[in-house]
Amino acid sequence: MGTIIGIDLGTTNSCCAFMERGEPRIIINEEGGRTTPSVVGFAKDGERFVGEVAKRQLVVNPEATVYAIKRFMGRRYRECRADMGLVSYPILEGATGECAVEVLGRQYSPREISALVLQKLKKAAEDFLGEPVTEAVITVPAYFTDSQRQATRDAGTIAGLDVLRIINEPTAAALAYVHDRRKASTIAVYDFGGGTFDVSILRVDRDVAEVKATRGDNQLGGADLDRMLLEWLAAAFARENGVPLPTDKVVMQRLRDAAERAKLELSTASSTDVALPFLFVDASGPRHLQVTVTRAIFEELIADAVERTLVECRAAVRDAGLAVEQIDEVVMVGGSSRIPLVQERVKALFRRPLNKGFNPDEVVAIGAAIQAGMLEGDIKGVTLLDVTNFSLGIEVAGGRFARLIPKNTTLPTVARRQVSTVVDNQRSVKIHILQGESERARENVSLGEFELNNIQPAARGLPRIDISFGIDANGIVEVSAKDTRSGISEALRIDAPAGMSKQELLQLTESHAAAAHSDEEAKKLRAIRKTIEGQIVGLEGFQRIHQGELHRSDLDGLDQALKRARMAVLKSQDVPNLTELSTYLVRVQQHLKARVGV
Ligand code: AMP
Repeated sequence: MGTIIGIDLGTTNSCCAFMERGEPRIIINEEGGRTTPSVVGFAKDGERFVGEVAKRQLVVNPEATVYAIKRFMGRRYRECRADMGLVSYPILEGATGECAVEVLGRQYSPREISALVLQKLKKAAEDFLGEPVTEAVITVPAYFTDSQRQATRDAGTIAGLDVLRIINEPTAAALAYVHDRRKASTIAVYDFGGGTFDVSILRVDRDVAEVKATRGDNQLGGADLDRMLLEWLAAAFARENGVPLPTDKVVMQRLRDAAERAKLELSTASSTDVALPFLFVDASGPRHLQVTVTRAIFEELIADAVERTLVECRAAVRDAGLAVEQIDEVVMVGGSSRIPLVQERVKALFRRPLNKGFNPDEVVAIGAAIQAGMLEGDIKGVTLLDVTNFSLGIEVAGGRFARLIPKNTTLPTVARRQVSTVVDNQRSVKIHILQGESERARENVSLGEFELNNIQPAARGLPRIDISFGIDANGIVEVSAKDTRSGISEALRIDAPAGMSKQELLQLTESHAAAAHSDEEAKKLRAIRKTIEGQIVGLEGFQRIHQGELHRSDLDGLDQALKRARMAVLKSQDVPNLTELSTYLVRVQQHLKARVGV
């Protein structure tokens, strides 16, 4: 069995880890980074690049650079309106009603974009470990719904990964804590990332991590704080200049970028200058933005958002049946947990110092690797008991929601319900499954409807149909139904709003593997061309300096080599041939250096 990797697929950054001799280790990516920006860039020729390179092109090419895609994973278009302003690329309604992204005239589903990030992590792991990697544990926010979890699993499949387990991010952080400390305590994991906020209360023992309660906000993260600062910067500009900022994509992206940078600086400095020269040009000439933001201003802007996280914390402690005094430690996770105001407020709420012993950017991936180690059998004697974060139920008469599995039930879990027909000889029943806490069905998230057909004809109310609703260890919903009289049990499939058939997934997996291969080839081609271009410049310089000292035949040889190299750089696409040429140019240079004695 190969190594199972643990992946924190983040809104802003992703991180990957594995277990080595019983200890978790972070996988270093191609660029030498411990985390990889979850950003995918597209070039006109169809080439895609992921991570740091893609992030760098964000300001100059905002429409062809996709970031924060996690916000749109497995969500319906009409549920996402509020988030659309957070990104610079267009979000459309895809064929299945889910969100889609349009880049350079082509539509991609969020899971395809996420698959590209996962593919990059998979490749980094393979390079790092020196072996193929096909299995992974992926983390998701505790507040991800069933469709968001399924979309994450699909993204893994498209990337060529068998996703053995999906675990909640705060639970992963708690696993890292258990692994490290192995002491009995009640902990709160406060996870404030780029796109989401989660808090979990766990009871950990030497060998058991039991989630007692989880709360959170799927749509509150660092990007929202950036937006608050961006709006303040835009207002400051308008005040100063008497004209509003244009909503041009490049202007907005520069502003978004500047807002995030200012936010990061304000975590350590008490004020920062935001300077964006030549932001745009209008009738009165070039316009610049130059403003100082103090930490006090920033804190005022984000105070309500931070307060919202505290409301969730209090609720989570209550759900766990505890009082804040009973929390022994608070583990801070996610980049936004570095904000001083956040730390101050969380500390005041729990009335104790915060545990900063873990790197908030890495602890979730480490927990995922530990879960992978548990699946591999490398880590023994640790049990993880997670809970479902939404109630699961069905729609009943009057548009009401009947709760079958209440939130905070330990996973995996199954609930059964018997239903019957309402008219004589009714042949099918339709069941609408939902997740949420509202008593009104339409206020909860619809997971889809299913129909049980071929019910034996009978008087109404006579058929007995047993329906079993399960939530597996990944938090994914499974439904099955059986007509008890006929014994017919129908294979039931929830038509998740963003669901994909096996066939569609397979097609995407194959086309992504092929595209990844060609991206890799294009990268190699670019690298070897760059090497040869450097060699040409070097040889030309050598020719200029040493022309008088070289024999005619050497000069001719050098001319020939340069001609061949220039032609090849322009025309050749053949990486092995170009590599051979580069080796030949090294030899030419060595020979000429020996001739002139340098
Ligand atoms: P994550 O999703 O955990 O990778 O968190 C990413 C978010 O954390 C982004 O919104 C970052 O801007 C934010 N972040 C990272 N470092 C800091 C910092 N030092 N101060 C404030 N926010 C930060």
